[in-house]
Amino acid sequence: MAAKKSKESSYKGREQTTTQTSTASAKENLALFEALCEEGEVFINAREIIQTLEKMGVYLSDPRLKALRDYLEIDKSRRQNDYLLKKIDHRAFEELMGRSALLRKCLQSGLTVPEFEAFTKTMETIFLKSKEKTGGAVATYIPQLARVDPELYAVSICTLDGQRFSLGDYKTTFCVQSACKPILYCIAQQELGQEHVHKHIGFEPSGRGFNELSLDRNNLPHNPMINAGAIMSCSLIKRKANAADRFEHVMNIFRKLSGGGKVNFENTVYLSERETADRNFALAYFMREKNAFPEDTNITKTLEFYFQCCSIETDAESYAMVAATLANSGICPITGSRVFEDLTVKNCLSLMLTCGMYDYSGEFAFKIGFPAKSGVSGVMMVVIPDLLGMCIWSPRLDSLGNSVRGVEFCRLLAQEYNMHKFEGLSSKSPDRDPKSKKYEAGYRDVLALISAASGGDLLEIKRLIASGVNLDRGDYDYRTALHLASAEGQLDVVRFLIEKGAKVNPKDRWGRTPLADARAAQLQELEDFLISKGAEE
Ligand code: GLU
Repeated sequence: MAAKKSKESSYKGREQTTTQTSTASAKENLALFEALCEEGEVFINAREIIQTLEKMGVYLSDPRLKALRDYLEIDKSRRQNDYLLKKIDHRAFEELMGRSALLRKCLQSGLTVPEFEAFTKTMETIFLKSKEKTGGAVATYIPQLARVDPELYAVSICTLDGQRFSLGDYKTTFCVQSACKPILYCIAQQELGQEHVHKHIGFEPSGRGFNELSLDRNNLPHNPMINAGAIMSCSLIKRKANAADRFEHVMNIFRKLSGGGKVNFENTVYLSERETADRNFALAYFMREKNAFPEDTNITKTLEFYFQCCSIETDAESYAMVAATLANSGICPITGSRVFEDLTVKNCLSLMLTCGMYDYSGEFAFKIGFPAKSGVSGVMMVVIPDLLGMCIWSPRLDSLGNSVRGVEFCRLLAQEYNMHKFEGLSSKSPDRDPKSKKYEAGYRDVLALISAASGGDLLEIKRLIASGVNLDRGDYDYRTALHLASAEGQLDVVRFLIEKGAKVNPKDRWGRTPLADARAAQLQELEDFLISKGAEE
């Protein structure tokens, strides 16, 4: 929550001069401006806004904050963090709020995960717990994977609003391997439509190993998440174009999905993949024998294209954005650009849910219940629709080829929150719903109570108490209604609050009690009353 101080008196004065002319949102902006202003000042320190953005997981580099960056001249700042000292007056604030929906949402706690800090704390706990899992082994079929440090571990998330949080080795690169398969399937669908694509690829979990030589009852690859299916997706993408253009097309889409994140090509992985590809060649020839490919498919070129896609290099932070774009129905959260249609993404997530985790797919869907796709590099791309995308990367794999820590992280996450697809997010306790504004809804009332207490508005206080407001909850500085009423000499309010059960000795951020406030303001009668009720300094 951004609003940090209760400043009823100055707010009221300002409000009276603007009520006739301003719109509801201008009033809201003014209230917010007042709340963010430094005590006794008529401007906000940029630091205040930037700290709120950070707390909400919004990066200052987010393209949607261009207006703010320009205003603070962040990109021009000569000395690091110069811009933190800038001041934002009311007019500028109003303009910035008008130009940035993200800033508005952020300051009004309107983002997907309103209590982002609490959420990230839980993620940290889960990260540390899952890190203890050191079983499994890195893939060894190519030297590039065999050489990776098995201890590396990264988790990165991005919500639908582009709130981001990363832990561990999230800037370290890895190759996407099978985590490219959902994307290849989406690209093929975008180009040709689902019906065309599914003339060549089935819908069923194979019940067999990801690279097993088997096809479904129609002699097609079982689904797009296993090798045969992904090779087929590759055969469908831009089939008339030359190899360079086809790969460039795929890379461009990955870049868009990642919102301009890190997406490169790891040539040594590609060369090794091509060297050790007997099974993939066998699969392709088997499919050709069964007429599964479109006519005139060049097997070698298709396979090379597939190996290139498996060799795309990224990092957890960037791939979390790819996952978030899928969670957001194909629109990249930070650039707002639509990369895939809703239907494309819906189809992809359905098959990720049933087929994305190798031979553990059924159990993963049953126990954990959200779409995910893993790859032999130890990556897991996880999509929690309407909430967030996530990338987990830890190279040690279990016997089924999934990242040991990745699976554990998801297991703990699903235990902590209602994220299983069939466990209604809102039907359970708000504590288990990251989207819930469990404190926020109440917090607004708390702020209203505090300002009513400081202004002596007993009628409003009664109304708020009747609607169940928490009397003991403080504002950003832990200042409660009783603090404010005591500091302002509102004896009737103090009496009423205590009568209604308010705690007599709450401590604010600086350890001050209401009695200390009354003493500082030299309010003898109020002081005596508080002492008679057990108040201490
Ligand atoms: N490049 C690997 C293959 O095709 C991908 C394996 C995987 O990540 O499942 O065998």
